[in-house]
Amino acid sequence: MIFNSCNWINHGLNFEPHHIEMCCLRCHIGGGNLIIKPGFNGELLNWDEVFELKKPFIEQNKNGHIHNKCEGCFNLYEKDWEEDKKYFNYLHFNHWTHCNCKCIYCFTDYNKDFYNTQRYYNVFPIVKDMFEKNLFKPGGEITFAGGEPTILDEFEDLLNLFIENDVSRVTIHTSGIKYSPAISRGIKAGIVDVVVSLDSGTTETFKKIKNVSAYEKVIENTKMYVDAEIKDNFPLVSTKYIMMPDINDNIDEVEKWLSINKECNVRSIVIDIEHQWFKLQREKCAFPKHGRDIFDYIYKRAKELDLNIILYNSARYYINNKQDFPNFDFIPYIYPSLGKINNETIQKIP
Ligand code: SF4
Ligand code: SF4
Repeated sequence: MIFNSCNWINHGLNFEPHHIEMCCLRCHIGGGNLIIKPGFNGELLNWDEVFELKKPFIEQNKNGHIHNKCEGCFNLYEKDWEEDKKYFNYLHFNHWTHCNCKCIYCFTDYNKDFYNTQRYYNVFPIVKDMFEKNLFKPGGEITFAGGEPTILDEFEDLLNLFIENDVSRVTIHTSGIKYSPAISRGIKAGIVDVVVSLDSGTTETFKKIKNVSAYEKVIENTKMYVDAEIKDNFPLVSTKYIMMPDINDNIDEVEKWLSINKECNVRSIVIDIEHQWFKLQREKCAFPKHGRDIFDYIYKRAKELDLNIILYNSARYYINNKQDFPNFDFIPYIYPSLGKINNETIQKIP
């Protein structure tokens, strides 16, 4: 049956510190946050129960009533959702808050000591159980946000599990401060794409945003990930730039960031807008002109430098919904069911 829905509602799970949600999207009007299992602390899951918990949301979509928390979400689209097929292939891991960085835009910033000492659960037994019960179907996406994934004790085991089970794609968001051999292994296997949080093109701006002195280390680790790439394949290493008011929202910093990417042979960049700033601007229905100019500049320079642009949540929402950027080509954050990413599969992106 054809109806309006999304991959996360039908086949997704987002693991949060004390509950399981449908997805991690927050940038749209509805704001997301569809909790499907409250009070969860890492117990093995009864999968029949999980499917039952998701069912009302799927039924609601089938009946044409999109949940108000999904309003305006770019992930909704019409297709035959095969709602009777029970499997997972969209997994998001966001269940811990420890990090070796202190970004001022992070939700953990207001009480870093608290978030760095919070207990967290392991997802490895849950994911292993899902694989053993054949409830995972390759073709979707797996993402790590957090917290910093490379400092999780189970991180290397988890990545090995994904590599062994031949998943199509695992996206890892990292501060880049700690090098992970498993990430390099995953890049070599064509499975992992890593997004290094840089947000700057200079040590000074990096320090202002991150509150740690690690710019050189992050660059060094980024180069090591680039070394693991297969050069004629689709790029699997990106650095991310979250535009923030009065800190890095200027062309000079952007140019330095683009140049350092080029120097490191990074072939793909991710751009986003700081979430709270964007929300305020969205409510005023006007994004500042200098911010739009920066997007134009990035677009123009990325073309010249032969860098792929990937838009993340707020930037994608903005550019999708405004008419200001009719010619802005970008690679969508989500390109489902393409299998392993390479130059051939990338052509199939709608
Ligand atoms: S429609 Fe958007 S907000 Fe709703 S579950 Fe799907 S991804 Fe999340
Ligand atoms: S790297 Fe990510 S988790 Fe760590 S402080 Fe920055 S935004 Fe937060």
